[in-house]
This record gives sequence, C-alpha cells and structure tokens, in this order.
Amino acid sequence: MKLKIVKGTRDLYGDDIIRFQRLESAARQVFTLYGYEEIRTPMFERTELFAHGVGQDTDIVGKEMFLLEDRRGRSLALRPEGTASVVRSVITDNHMQQSNHRRFFYMGPMFRYEQPQKGRFRQFDQIGAEYFGVTTPDADLEVLLMLRHFFKAVNLESVSFQLNTIGCQKPECRPAFKKKLIIYLELHRSHLCENCKRRLETNPLRVLDCKEESCIAATSDAPRIYEHVCGECSGHFGQLKTMLREHKVSYELNHKLVRGLDYYSRTVFEVYSENLGAQNAAGGGGRYDGLFEIYGSPIVPALGFALGLDRLAMLIPEIEQESGGIFVVGHDRSKVTGLVAMLREAGYKCLYDPFQASMKSQFRQANKAGVTHVLILGEEEITNNTVSVKSMKDSNQVNLPFDGILEYIGQDLNPKN
Ligand SMILES: [Zn+2]
Ligand SMILES: [Zn+2]
Repeated sequence: MKLKIVKGTRDLYGDDIIRFQRLESAARQVFTLYGYEEIRTPMFERTELFAHGVGQDTDIVGKEMFLLEDRRGRSLALRPEGTASVVRSVITDNHMQQSNHRRFFYMGPMFRYEQPQKGRFRQFDQIGAEYFGVTTPDADLEVLLMLRHFFKAVNLESVSFQLNTIGCQKPECRPAFKKKLIIYLELHRSHLCENCKRRLETNPLRVLDCKEESCIAATSDAPRIYEHVCGECSGHFGQLKTMLREHKVSYELNHKLVRGLDYYSRTVFEVYSENLGAQNAAGGGGRYDGLFEIYGSPIVPALGFALGLDRLAMLIPEIEQESGGIFVVGHDRSKVTGLVAMLREAGYKCLYDPFQASMKSQFRQANKAGVTHVLILGEEEITNNTVSVKSMKDSNQVNLPFDGILEYIGQDLNPKN
C-alpha cells in the first residue's frame, strides 16, 4: 500500500513544533495571570451541540463539519470550534456552582472541511478563552488586555482591535436596527451577491460582513449598528471604549463586524497584528450572553475569543537551534551508557553515539548537536578511572577523576530541567 497523509492535514515537527510550543506556553503563562484555568474537552461531541451552539445556517455547521456515526447510529461531530464544548462542560459539570464567575482557557485541534490553503488546514489548532458570569464591561476590557498581553509575550507587537457592538435582543435594540438595515439593503438589492439576497431575508446582519466586492461597496453607507443600539448597550460600549483608552489599547470601530447569531450580544471584536497584515485577523471573539438559554440552561453572561495557532506560528521568527548539553564519546559501551545515564538523572541533557563510530565521527556528531561540553572516555581515561572534559567554547580540556565529574560540570553548566 502507498502511504499518504490526509488532505488538509500535516505533521508538526522541527521548527514548527517549537513555534507551537512557544505560543502555547506563553498562553498558559499569561492566561494564568488573569485567573484562567485550563480545560480540555473531548475532540468530538454530539452533533446537535454545534448545530444549536454555532448555528445551523453557518458554513461551519452547514458545510464544514466532520461527521461520524457511532456503532449505534448516533451522530457525532469532530469539534469545529471550542466555545460550544466549554459551555457544554459548564452546564453538564455545574462549574458555576463553585463560583459566580469562572474563567477557562483551552488549546488544541479543531476540524473543518474547508479548502486547504497557506496557513489553513482541515485540522487546525486554536487557543481560546471564555469568561463566564460577568455582565459589566470590565470583563470585556480584561479579555482584550489579556490578548494584548499575550501578543506582547510572543513578541508580536503593534496589536490592534476592531470593535463593534451588536446590541441586544430588546425590541428597540438589534431588532429595530435590523428593520432599518433591511430598508437600506432593499434599496441596494441589485448590487448584492446571490448569497446576500438570500441573507437579506434570513439574516440581514450577515450581509455586512460578506467578502464579495459588490457587497462591500453596497454596504459602506449602511446604517451603523453602534449608533442604533439601546441605551444600556450603548452605555456598556461607551464605558468599554473609555477604559480601553485609559489602558492605551488601540482600537478601531468597525460597524461591519457582526456575529450573525442571535445569542451574541454587545461587544464583538477581532484582533490584528501588523505582522499578519491588515487583511488577516489573528482571531476574534465577543459576548454571547444568550448561548446558555439556547441549551435550555439558566442564563450565564459570557464572552471569549479564539486565536488560530497555525497562522500565528508563521509569524514567529526563525528558530535558533537550541544548543547546550553534553556529548559522551568513547568505545566502552557499558562505561559510556553508564555515564550518560548518571548525567541524565542529574538533570543534564546528554547524548552519545549508539553506533559507537570512530572517535572522529563522534566528535563531529557532538559538534553538530551544538553541545557545550564533550566528555571523553578513551582508553587512557578508562585505565586511570578518569574522564576528560572538553569545553566546546574554548576547546580547553581537563582530565578529572571519574567521581568528581558531576561536581566539576555543576560549576560550569546548569541542569536542563
Ligand atoms: Zn440593547
Ligand atoms: Zn454578499
């Protein structure tokens, strides 16, 4: 049989995996400072979780889910995103009973059947965070500050946010705006793409974020939702903007930024980094105060975001070969492996040649591995029960009694762990 990797997937190794590790460990470190706890949910859930939570008429659910059937014919889906699963866990495991506000972050692979392209895969990784229980805008602020902090921690500077509010479900808020928007869109109907003509009936807000040129042009003068939301929503947005300015967070208003589902409310945002270019958001998020109700659970206000790791990883500059460690050269297999084992247990990264090639070849391997010290167990050393230590920095070489070796390198090297 001819082995082939599945279309739209890839193996991560070498520099790529180091980039992923850097992003993941920065996220762990930064998010922990803000009180977020890590949560790992299953990679598959019952299909209805996403159908209800992400929305039946979104591309994600309608066209892009990987579906499977278990042996009893129940429909399961590989998770296309993280929020629905975390919310499901908050409900099924009663997380809100422990405290009236909880914060969770997650990282891991998601699955969508999309056309693969540069930086976009059918199995892709996301880092996300969700903040439950708080309605006031300081929660929105905290999430945005944490994102900015994360980008700083991975040396991606000049982060900016695009910001919008999409109001709430009170009749005078988003529903009233929708009516105004429909009147405007009807006047420009002939310029809309076929999809948007349909959306005009089903989900007019989604027309605003259509990526078709003609739709972008046709909606540029559309009424701006942030000017039409109710007093409370506008107050929330106003406070958030004031606090962002106080914290010197740069943002731009974007009235076309919408989440087309009714359980989203108020703040929505996307995060951009200069390094990624103006076209590509590194991630986005917003409030979804109405999602718990969809699942038949008591209302819990919530907001969160997700970042695409695959694209962010492309921005991490070249990886320097990690150097350090010790290489033991010699031809007495049991002496060599004995010394290697001792050094590793003492906490040093330690390598040797399992094929016991010529001394010259072993030195070449040590050089290539970038170690700082080579320990030599030649015939002379073994006879005298000593070890020679060669520093790769200055080529200095000393001969030491075997028993003093740990103490000597302890002054010169820090254990790796
Ligand atoms: Zn409102
Ligand atoms: Zn369109």
